[in-house]
Amino acid sequence: MKWTNLGHTIRRYSKNANSFHVGIVGAGPAGFYCAQQLLKIIPGCRIDIYEKLPVPFGLVRYGVAPDHQEVKNVINTFSKTASNPNVRFIGNVTLGQHISLNQLKCSYNAVVLAYGAEEDRKLNIPGEHLSNVVSATKFIGWYNGLPTNKSFHVNLDIEDAIIIGQGNVALDVARILLTPIDNLRKTDITEYSLEALSKSKVKRVTIIGRRGPLQVAFTIKEFREMLKLPQVSTDFFEHQMDGIDKIINDLPRPRKRLIQLMYDASREVTSKTKKKIFSLLFLRTPLSILGMDSVEGVELAENILEGEKAKITNEKSLLKCDLLFRSIGYRSVQVDPDVPFDTQSSTVPQNIGVYSVGWLSSGPVGVIISTMSHAFEVAALIGKHFDEGLLNEKKPGYDDISKVLKDKGVITVGWNGWAEIDKTEIERGVKLHKPREKIVDIDEMIQLGGRI
Ligand code: FAD
Ligand code: NAP
Repeated sequence: MKWTNLGHTIRRYSKNANSFHVGIVGAGPAGFYCAQQLLKIIPGCRIDIYEKLPVPFGLVRYGVAPDHQEVKNVINTFSKTASNPNVRFIGNVTLGQHISLNQLKCSYNAVVLAYGAEEDRKLNIPGEHLSNVVSATKFIGWYNGLPTNKSFHVNLDIEDAIIIGQGNVALDVARILLTPIDNLRKTDITEYSLEALSKSKVKRVTIIGRRGPLQVAFTIKEFREMLKLPQVSTDFFEHQMDGIDKIINDLPRPRKRLIQLMYDASREVTSKTKKKIFSLLFLRTPLSILGMDSVEGVELAENILEGEKAKITNEKSLLKCDLLFRSIGYRSVQVDPDVPFDTQSSTVPQNIGVYSVGWLSSGPVGVIISTMSHAFEVAALIGKHFDEGLLNEKKPGYDDISKVLKDKGVITVGWNGWAEIDKTEIERGVKLHKPREKIVDIDEMIQLGGRI
């Protein structure tokens, strides 16, 4: 009954599969890739994808930077999956609010939780409440048009910005702040953030890491983009990169290339004519954020490395700034009391019948391609459980859930509804010479694409 294709075990279409109902929660990369693979390995299965927003694609739409449009091409693959007659997209439905995990378990043979990691991690230090101490997550949501962040406020009428954290998210924020505004105009960044960024006076952006240059979390492509920014010089503060050249050759391959690039950049003579500065400060832990009402600076402890770990010393320093971002990672939450949530790791482990994929499962690290690999692995696990007859109780699929939603008066947005929203956004974009102008108002999205 089985044959192998492209390394995956494919089952012949079976009657069994036809009544195999899968409910996926979250229409980001993890949810879509899991659906794509399930269609392959259990042909004939029925998949419903629930999404709390009226629109699909998760962080591909609301996280990936507007000047990385090519990355967003993955939505073509997701759209192909959504157009499969066995797949239903049900937007504007929130797990934990409109539907519960128990209701999903009663309706589906397999429930796949793919709702990501939406919260940001806090520094938990004094002064974090001050004005212009902001979350990178919210800033990114704001410029990308995430409805919940449309009213986010940041004062950009300042010169010195600090970002705590040295991952790719920190580089996204730094790049958006330092990119010439005309380069952003042709992206799908929201008009209101373009307006605010066009008035920005930010001159220096410093990203601060608690460990050393060898431990940065950002990657080479993203760092190279920083080096190529017009009118921006890169500054490594004094002596930070001294001696690094002696150890580069001993580093493993991808890290070696990145550190070589950083070292070379640190040795370049900075042109005094460049208007803006991107700087990197290592081995510093923020102790407190200083200021009366608004942030005026940050108190930093100097660190040493013990192995790969940062250890705080008694040496302290102050660094002035008028805007501070925390960019130290995202965090998943337990959206429903019955979600088998591991509070230690803030992730959801695999259970027979209730699975997790993507950032909710692996923690908030990894790019789209690693999220894809993970989703494929979980789909294979579901296929195995299906084969073993562990998931073959008869389930109604969407029939029962649709009644729950109707009773609650929830207006859902299906794939055709999304197509209407998409069309309108693209039409608005054409007028502004952009790929699209995102609609940021949920009510407007529902007016365009909703149905009871
Ligand atoms: P998500 O993409 O977050 O999808 C989760 C979905 O679940 C969302 O649509 C959300 O609305 C929905 N949801 C949440 N709660 C509920 C609920 N209660 N009920 C129903 N639905 C819910 N990777 C790259 O390869 N290239 C890049 O350039 C890149 N840039 C990035 C930029 C940023 C700022 C960030 C944060 C990440 C970036 N990544 C990039 C990583 C990539 O976005 C992730 O690997 C990927 O999105 C994780 O997929 P996911 O499906 O697990 O989560
Ligand atoms: P990340 O890569 O995990 O980086 C987090 C940074 O915050 C690290 O420098 C980390 O330092 C630091 N940090 C964590 N806790 C801290 C604390 N308490 N105090 C000080 N510093 C702290 O996370 P991210 O930047 O949020 O990115 C998430 C994922 O999305 C990553 O996999 C990233 O590659 C991906 N992403 C990709 C792109 C792209 O491909 N262009 C763009 C954006 C995001 P330590 O290392 O010392 O912990």
